[in-house]
Amino acid sequence: MSNNVNEKGYYGAFGGAYIPEILHRNIEQLRENYLNIMEEADFQKEFRALLRDYVGRPSPLYLARRLSERYGARIYLKREDLNHTGAHKINNTVGQILLARRMGKTRIIAETGAGQHGVATATVCALMDMRCAVYMGSTDMARQSLNVRKMEMLGAEVRPVDSGNRTLKDATNEAIRDWCCNPADTHYIIGSVVGPHPYPDMVARFQSVIGEEIRAQLLEKEGRDYPDYLVACVGGGSNAAGTFYPYLDELRVQLIEVEAAGDGVDTDRTAATIRRGREGIIHGSRTLVMQNADGQIEEPYSISAGLDYPGIGPMHANLAANGRAEVLSATDNEALSAAFELTRTEGIIPALESSHALAALPLLAPRFRPDNVVVATLSGRGDKDMETYVNNYKL
Ligand SMILES: *Cc1c(COP(=O)(O)O)cnc(C)c1O
Repeated sequence: MSNNVNEKGYYGAFGGAYIPEILHRNIEQLRENYLNIMEEADFQKEFRALLRDYVGRPSPLYLARRLSERYGARIYLKREDLNHTGAHKINNTVGQILLARRMGKTRIIAETGAGQHGVATATVCALMDMRCAVYMGSTDMARQSLNVRKMEMLGAEVRPVDSGNRTLKDATNEAIRDWCCNPADTHYIIGSVVGPHPYPDMVARFQSVIGEEIRAQLLEKEGRDYPDYLVACVGGGSNAAGTFYPYLDELRVQLIEVEAAGDGVDTDRTAATIRRGREGIIHGSRTLVMQNADGQIEEPYSISAGLDYPGIGPMHANLAANGRAEVLSATDNEALSAAFELTRTEGIIPALESSHALAALPLLAPRFRPDNVVVATLSGRGDKDMETYVNNYKL
């Protein structure tokens, strides 16, 4: 059994490319070229050099001593929060813009929810001198004005989206519409392991640098190149996919994914797509989707904007369905507690998304043995979430 994508673009029953005819050539061009381009020595050289000198990789693998004492295992944090622009998303945007250039594209579009992927995209467009339009729901623009200003300062055009709930799902629809109108010169940089094949596989490969580094760093620090547990939060699922990638078929490594439960998995206000979703098609991919009885997409809710997506990458739908990954969830309050705990035990203010991964530690602790090696991916830093932290802060 392979837990990775097959040649048709499926992970088990999930994935594929359900796209309008007008996008067929774009997707075909990408599908035919992405692996060849990514494997070129010249591409790898440029990608690796930028990851090192521009992003700041390898990101440290940090043994969190006080957290380890508290939960009774050797707990490491993979520090994606230390990357340029503050999260793992830059790994993917650097990779995709190099790919777009090699395919002769001159213009980039992207969708963004909280603005993190928009900022990561605007950043690489400035770096590569490419035109950039970022679609963003007008509700999100109001909530995340600092990221809007950053994108504008970086030279991107932020296009407000006023349809639907004016959030991420609507922004994605508009970006797809733009791509339909500008197929020849434009590349669409999707920000997670979602969308039609080959996007989930391509983004997972760009993010797999996280897992590759974990392997080398564990060998150096622990004398073995695998952990007992890998823990990551899942929104669309790209930081989790990158963390798990080299270990997908290595069964001695337990893969733990943590969804955002919002107010609770069984409430109306949740973003726990794997637990609550049903099979359907969203943004070109067959996966689990939060939907009502009529198949209308339901708006998810989480305190963390980056986990607030009504779908889930097809890789993760499959890992959950076949039992390879264990799916946990954390409520808003559990994530907040985990954030405050990390801040006071290790002096690291995590992103709210990453705090969901940390919230799994108390749930897993009864199973930990003292010599277990646990790696939790700290997908981003908490600067962007300070307002939420301050508003929820109890001494
Ligand atoms: C966007 C984001 C996420 C969620 O995206 P994935 O594709 O699931 O990784 C998680 N953490 C941070 C810091 C983010 O910015």
